[in-house]
Amino acid sequence: MSILKVARLGHPVLRQVTGNLSQRELLSASMQKFIDDMIETMKEYDGVGLAADQVHESKQVAVLEVTDNPRYPGKPEVPLTVLINPKITPLSDATEEDWEGCLSIPDLRGKVPRYSSVRVQAWDRNGQELDYVANGFHARVIQHEFDHLHGKVYLDRMRDLSTLSFLQEFARYGLGPARGE
Ligand SMILES: [Zn+2]
Repeated sequence: MSILKVARLGHPVLRQVTGNLSQRELLSASMQKFIDDMIETMKEYDGVGLAADQVHESKQVAVLEVTDNPRYPGKPEVPLTVLINPKITPLSDATEEDWEGCLSIPDLRGKVPRYSSVRVQAWDRNGQELDYVANGFHARVIQHEFDHLHGKVYLDRMRDLSTLSFLQEFARYGLGPARGE
C-alpha cells in the first residue's frame, strides 16, 4: 500500500464532478489497491474521511472511519466504510451546525450546517448494496465526502465565514467541544 498525495484547494480536480464506477471497474485489482491506498492515506493524515478526488482520482469513491481521532476528539465511532457511487437523501429538514476541517484545506476549521439524519445508498468495495441511515457526526462526515464527489468543499456550505479559524487559534480560544460547543 502507499500513501497518496492529497490535492489542496485550488487544484481543479477538487471542483470536478466525479464519475460513476461500474462493477467491473470497482472489482479490478487496480481499483481495489487504490481503495486500500485511500484508507491508508486517510489514516496517515488522521482524516475521518477521504474522497477519491482529494487524491487526484475523479471517481465516485469515498472512505470514512471515526475512531479515537486526535483531529476530532470525543466523536462517536464509525466503523471503516467504503462508499461507491453514493446517494444521500435527508430524512428531514432538520440541520445542525458543527465544526469541520478538511485535508484539502489544511489548518482551518469552520462551522458548517448539515442535515442531522440522512439515508445512504451505495455499493461497498465488493459491489454489494448498502442502504442505511446515518445520524449526527456520522451523517456530517458522509455529507462532507459526498460534497467532494460533486466538486464542493465545506467552505461552500458555511452560512458565512465568520467562524473560520486556524487550528492553533481554534485550540487557543477554546472554540472546540471542550468548551461546550
Ligand atoms: Zn474534505
